[in-house]
Amino acid sequence: MRGVDALRALPSVDALLRDARIESVIERHGRSVVTAAIRTVLAAVRGEIASHAAGTSDAGLIDRIALEVEKAVTPSLRPVFNLTGTILHTNLGRAPLPPEAIEAVITAAREPSNLEFDLDTGKRGDRDDHVEAALCRLTGAAAATVVNNNAAAVLLVLNTLAARREVPTSRGELIEIGGSFRMPDIMKRAGCTLREIGTTNRVHLSDYADAIGPKTGLVMKVHTSNYEVVGFTASVPEPELSALCRERRVPFVVDLGSGTLVDLAHYGLPHEPTPSDALAHGADVVTFSGDKLLGGPQAGLVVGRADLIAAIKRNPLRRALRVDKMTVAALSAVLALYADPDRLERLPVIRLLRKPVTDIRALAERLLAPMTAAMAHAAHVRVVDCQGQIGSGALPTRTVASAGLAIEPLARRGAGRMLQQIAVAFRRLPVPVIGRIQDDALILDLRCLEDEARFAAQLPEWRIAN
Ligand SMILES: *Cc1c(COP(=O)(O)O)cnc(C)c1O
Repeated sequence: MRGVDALRALPSVDALLRDARIESVIERHGRSVVTAAIRTVLAAVRGEIASHAAGTSDAGLIDRIALEVEKAVTPSLRPVFNLTGTILHTNLGRAPLPPEAIEAVITAAREPSNLEFDLDTGKRGDRDDHVEAALCRLTGAAAATVVNNNAAAVLLVLNTLAARREVPTSRGELIEIGGSFRMPDIMKRAGCTLREIGTTNRVHLSDYADAIGPKTGLVMKVHTSNYEVVGFTASVPEPELSALCRERRVPFVVDLGSGTLVDLAHYGLPHEPTPSDALAHGADVVTFSGDKLLGGPQAGLVVGRADLIAAIKRNPLRRALRVDKMTVAALSAVLALYADPDRLERLPVIRLLRKPVTDIRALAERLLAPMTAAMAHAAHVRVVDCQGQIGSGALPTRTVASAGLAIEPLARRGAGRMLQQIAVAFRRLPVPVIGRIQDDALILDLRCLEDEARFAAQLPEWRIAN
């Protein structure tokens, strides 16, 4: 059937809604979703008939409608396998939470809680009350507050302590991080005037001393978290800078970025500065992220001097940047793990960082055969040693030795296109697999693969357009 006849033969929306096979779909997903899907599919089929493409059988029509419904009800946000080799991948959600934090989130979501309620006095409380003591214990700070993320923390600190004032900052530290966080722009939005000092590669104590004056609101030091200035460089050690700031009576603020609460040297990595280090070096306020090396929920942590934190808490902007109850619950549970170093392995970030390469290579060897079978005649698979990274602005120039699978197209002609197709097919699996393309191969770094069974189970579903 073609043309007008084919159009006439198409069933109506009502007729389709009464179809027994469609009725079961309605039962699961509701009438309005199914009606919308029927309209979408009918419109597409009419278009195909008009452009003389092949007509669709009744059974084909029902299948298409069911698929369309499936598409409509699949949540946009869903789990993926992060096999990029970047442990804290910002675009893939950064740190996975430990079970204790997940439990706490569920409870906070399900039931009312004393989020901002003092159970002793029956009066209004503060959501910081649930995490402030732990943050102070773990960092040595006198006071602490928590906001939505570290970008918010930096904005809030700048706006509270330096609005309409100057903020001397080294030219070598004017960072831009992903998602258009640029230190000069944040300063402007916070109402501060950035006063660039030194040069890209060198800054001296005298540069700070010359810049500090009656208009100075605070002095800012930013951890250059996603790059490193190497070669002929100079920067001012925190203790010297804090001594100068104290003498001139201006607050010294450090944006640490990642801010781990443990010494990474325990894990065979170079020492990454901790909030305790910065405070011990005389910083008045330190800001860092909750979901980077700390391994918790997205949050911005602000720790430091009691009077400055009190001023920060009074800023009306804090209300706009506050964390929700699920974040408070998760953060509190994660900080509790830090109280006991023996339980730190429960933090996925720490566990993933510590996973021995021999274990990862053994995992790659186990997956080699099923992956080779799944690739059929499209690609060759081999076990490779590779280099990953921590990500999210921790030790940007350091790699983490790892292992994984390298997938290379068999055909030499069109290999580049084939490689892209393979990467697309991995992303279309029920639980999408995200790897990285490097040296004409798709590399699946297996350091972050924790659920081997779930990964292997979907390999036979492999469909690749040859
Ligand atoms: C990551 C980072 C930020 C932003 O932190 P978010 O928690 O992602 O908002 C700010 N400053 C530095 C130095 C960072 O590394």
